[in-house]
Amino acid sequence: MALYRVAIIGAGPAGYFAAQALNNISVSERSFAIDMFERLPTPWGLVRSGVAPDHPKIKTVSKVFEKIATGGNFRLFANVEIGKDLTVEQLQDRYDAVIIATGSSLGKSLGIPGENLRGSLSAASFVPWYNAHPDFTDVDVPMESDTAVVIGGGNVAMDVARMLALEPKELDPTDTADHAIDAFRNSKIRKVYIAIRRGPEHAAFTSPELRDLPKLEHTNVIINEDEINAAIARVGDTAEKDVKSNLDAMLSIAQNQKTEHDRTIEFLFSHSPKEIQGNKDVKDVVFSTANGEVTIDCGLVVSAIGYNALDIPGIPFEKGKVVNIDGRVKGNMYVVGWAKRGPSGVIGTNKSDASAVIELLNQDLSQPKNKDDISDLLKGKKVVTQKDWEAINAAEIAAGEPLSKPRRKGITWDDLMAHAEIYFF
Ligand SMILES: Cc1cc2nc3c(=O)[nH]c(=O)nc-3n(C[C@H](O)[C@H](O)[C@H](O)COP(=O)(O)OP(=O)(O)OC[C@H]3O[C@@H](n4cnc5c(N)ncnc54)[C@H](O)[C@@H]3O)c2cc1C
Repeated sequence: MALYRVAIIGAGPAGYFAAQALNNISVSERSFAIDMFERLPTPWGLVRSGVAPDHPKIKTVSKVFEKIATGGNFRLFANVEIGKDLTVEQLQDRYDAVIIATGSSLGKSLGIPGENLRGSLSAASFVPWYNAHPDFTDVDVPMESDTAVVIGGGNVAMDVARMLALEPKELDPTDTADHAIDAFRNSKIRKVYIAIRRGPEHAAFTSPELRDLPKLEHTNVIINEDEINAAIARVGDTAEKDVKSNLDAMLSIAQNQKTEHDRTIEFLFSHSPKEIQGNKDVKDVVFSTANGEVTIDCGLVVSAIGYNALDIPGIPFEKGKVVNIDGRVKGNMYVVGWAKRGPSGVIGTNKSDASAVIELLNQDLSQPKNKDDISDLLKGKKVVTQKDWEAINAAEIAAGEPLSKPRRKGITWDDLMAHAEIYFF
């Protein structure tokens, strides 16, 4: 049986699902030796640094990733950034195929005045800050005013609003970063608006997430019933299933509003942001609405309007994605996940997407190259191997145990690296 060596760049869901799809081929015709490269000392991508800490069930997909990683034909090279520690060309030369699975992590900007004021941030900074991504420990999140505005109509906006409006005690049994739990405890924010540019029928929320919102034990959730009924009338019977399900979920929230708590999330539809005002700090946000301008006083604005992929030398990018046709990039290079499709789809979407790309990759392969192992190019580099990651993982889980948390995350690069018995190549 021919053995092919494949490099996967990025240890997020798309990278692991690509490895899984390669293994499914291995069983039948060919076998693959898989090397996965990850710039952070920790794998799992947005499952670790994106998914909200109060939704721990979603993170159990990491068990699937760990099973793939311990399958015997897999090596993790974490703390290795492609484009910096190794070039894409080096990988293309040594491996039979290179799969880009680097996601998209750069927050899109609103393009309105005032975005650079203190207190205006992107979800692309705020989310990794509360999730203990080591590059975002020092993000400044002012929470001294009683109101925050989240701009965006998707699940990330909803996560952000929920995290800001939760009773912080609800985060105690989660893996939220220690610094974020402290900050939420001291937060003065009691009212969080989610401002959505278009009407309810166009929002990109998914209905399970919407249906979860009223389960918050200490937070009112307010949606204007008339607006939802008007949207239902506009779409009529022709609405797609997802839209109908979303509108039903919103109507249910609107009809069962709670008002007894001192924390509130309120949805504002058809509010298009025009300007963030303030001197040095955010003072308010001005929106255009059908009835004219509306100004909302607030001290924090978080925009959650999508992500672009970060450029990596040697990889062609356009409009925030890797240039590709059905996952084929150029030469022996392929792309999967958010780097391929842009920031859409849940974790499971990356599985079917990766399978389809791996099918093409399998069709394209000719004879194995049998080139030298990559290790000589990593001489002197501190590589976090699977064994090292398992040491980090075990240390985090052990630190969480006495606090009844699933884990207590290392916050800085040094914290994380200290747990690993680093193998110097
Ligand atoms: C805030 C947020 C919350 C979400 N919540 C949910 C949810 O609750 N449920 C759900 O199903 N989906 C959720 N999603 C969507 C889900 O996270 C994505 O579908 C999925 O993570 C995309 O996978 P990916 O592998 O393409 O990218 P990522 O998960 O971003 O993984 C990319 C990996 O590549 C690494 N990398 C980047 N550049 C390099 C480089 N140059 N060299 C080496 N490594 C590199 C990154 O460090 C990262 O680990 C959420 C997304 C976000 C942003």
